[in-house]
This record gives sequence, C-alpha cells and structure tokens, in this order.
Amino acid sequence: MAFSRRDFIQTAIVSSVALGLPAQEKSASTLPGKRPIMVCANNGYDYLDSAFQFLKQGGDTLDAALRVVKGPEDDPNDDSVGLGGLPNEEGVVELDACCMHGPTRRAGSVGGVRNIKNVSLVSKAVMEHTGHVMLVGEGAERFAVAMGHPRENLLTDRSRKIWLLWKEYHSSNDWWGPGLADPHWKAPSDALPHADLMQDRMRKLHQRAGELGIEPEFRLAAVRRVLFPPTGTIHCSALNDKGEISGCTTTSGLAYKLPGRVGDSPIIGAGCYTDQDVGSAGATGSGEENIKVAGAHTIVENMRHGMSPLDAGMDALKRIVRNYNGDMNRIRFMDMTYYVLRKDGAYAGVSLWQGYSATNPHKIAVHDGTLRAEITVAMFKGSSQEFPLMRDIPPELSKDSEYLK
Ligand code: ASP
Repeated sequence: MAFSRRDFIQTAIVSSVALGLPAQEKSASTLPGKRPIMVCANNGYDYLDSAFQFLKQGGDTLDAALRVVKGPEDDPNDDSVGLGGLPNEEGVVELDACCMHGPTRRAGSVGGVRNIKNVSLVSKAVMEHTGHVMLVGEGAERFAVAMGHPRENLLTDRSRKIWLLWKEYHSSNDWWGPGLADPHWKAPSDALPHADLMQDRMRKLHQRAGELGIEPEFRLAAVRRVLFPPTGTIHCSALNDKGEISGCTTTSGLAYKLPGRVGDSPIIGAGCYTDQDVGSAGATGSGEENIKVAGAHTIVENMRHGMSPLDAGMDALKRIVRNYNGDMNRIRFMDMTYYVLRKDGAYAGVSLWQGYSATNPHKIAVHDGTLRAEITVAMFKGSSQEFPLMRDIPPELSKDSEYLK
C-alpha cells in the first residue's frame, strides 16, 4: 500500500465553500445573538437537536449541556470521550470532566476516573452531593459508584488494538511486538533515506494493524492515531431565553498519557468556565497549553471587560503563542479550539490551526433554532503536527496572522 503525503500532511487551506459549510462571520460575534442557544464541539452535533428542544421547553441549562456530552460518552466509536476513549500508556482509560451551573454559581469536577463512563454526570453529582468541587482517581470512582454509576470496562476492542499498535511501534527496546522468532522479522534498516524510512514505517504499521485485527477501513485512521496521539474532548455551553447559562466539558484526554495525567478538561477555568453575569467558554485541544493560560476563564474575563467572543477567544490563543515566543517550530505541535458563548447569545469558535485536515476543519456546532456546524476562525493557516516530521518550518506554516497584529 502506498501512502501519499496527502494522507498525512494537512497543510492545505481549508475552504469552507468547498465543504459546503458556513464559516464564522467575524461580525456575528460582536452583535447579540439569539436565545436560547447551545454551542458545542462538533462531535456533539448529533445530540444537539434533542438537547435544544429540552432547553427550549424549560429544561435546565446544565442538564441540556450534559445531554449533549453524554452522547459521545456513551458512543463506543468516539475514541476521545467516555466508553471507547483511547487509554493511557498502560492501556487503562482515565476520564476527566467538569461542569459549571451559572444560575446557582456552582461547579463540580472529576479527574483521572477509571471504569465509569459518564464522568460529566459524576462532575454534576460532585457539585450537588458534596461540599467539594473536585474529586480525583480512586475516590472519584468510589463516589461515582455510591451515586449509582455502574463500574464497566471502558476499553473497547478497537481502542485496545490501537493502543497495542502504539505500544509496539514505540518498543524497539523492550519485549512488546513480534520477536526475533517471528517468520516475518527483518533486520531494521538504517540505510534508508528519511522519506523512504517513513514510508517503510507506515507500511509496516498498516500491515501490523491488519494483523492485530483492526478493520481495513479503519487501519489508516489507526496508524494516524499511533503517529499523532490524538486529543479529543467535548465541550457544550447552553443559554436559555431567561439568560441562564451553564457549561460542561468531558474527555478521555490525551491518548497514551502517563497514568495519573490530568488535562485541562476538568480544570475549572481551563477546560470550562461559566459566569452567570458574562457567559461561558470551553476548550478542546492541547490541555497542557490551555492550563497555562487558564483559557476558558481568560475568555470569560475578556468578555466581561468588553471584548467580543471572537476577540476574547483569539486573545487566549495569543497567550499560548506568546508562551512560545511565536516559535512556529514548537507551535506546530499543538492545537486548541475554544467555544465561546456570551450571555446575549453572541458566540464564536476559534482555533489555533484550521483543522485536522483539508477536508476536516475544526468546527463549532450551534443550535439557536437552526442546527448547524460552522468552521472556526483560525489564527494560523494549515494544521498542527506535520508528518513526516520536518526539520524546517514549511512555508505554509507562516507566522503571519491578522490576529497577532
Ligand atoms: N484537552 C484535552 C486534554 O488535554 C484533550 C482534547 O481536548 O482533545 O486532556
């Protein structure tokens, strides 16, 4: 099987017109929007309509948002959240979630939870049934069980096989993967030029994915998840016609993370922040970067001081860029998307890079009576995390951005 550079390289400029999707209007974020309204990461799209109907009929804003994120948590095929989430480096799924309820100004959060699928609901239970805000690890799991959540195996067969592929790929110095006695074993070649070596690695990974029983149509995606450990999360914010607002975020976090690693998603102020007086924001992407800029809180505070949702989100992205002094050689290995909703219904989706690929741009799903997915406004053209790893900054990864001026 030949792998074209296009299978992996994702620097083409995303054309919203070509994809038949509306791009965000910069002005939309400065004018008041409609109420009620819900915004979420695009993996919540399929669940947004029924949650919106619930909100419209008087359902609580947090319960409406939780209805959206529970969808991907329950879906074994969404490998970024809940059941089927890609595991940590030891093959164990560890989940993070948090929520904020604007009307009562309360928050709940759980981090590093094993064996419990709907951690978003557990974060709400922490808010409602304890005097704490955050529970982690074993204590959070025991609390979830006490609240009636069943313990279950969250590692699906597919996620386990992808993890195994990742494990074998990174194991030149241990006993994982086929050994010397394997009939197909070949001495590693270091004589190949860089590009051929990459082709060779991809071919072997693809073949091994087949041997591990990964379905043919999913093999390329599995190889990609090994070469670029994915992030993936869902955030949702909901605003009703009375102006009440809530938000929540849930994730399995960065694939193959160190056991015990907690990302931004359950951190109140990073993965999610809601202030009843101002609005709500949430994040998906490189958690470590977002924690350092307290992204969601920064955005809400920016709006409090008069910025539009778009400018508020861009400002948080600028801080991430500033943390690396604009060094594109580093910034190309991270990404971040913010979902921003102001109390008057104005909203924005902003991201550091345009998307995962030319055909898969970052999107924000919106429902204000009309359900739609909109392409986010990106700070930089192209995508993060190039492959094969390039020594030089490709020209298309230009540092120029109108948002940095
Ligand atoms: N932000 C999440 C984390 O770092 C991952 C993601 O959003 O994709 O855990």
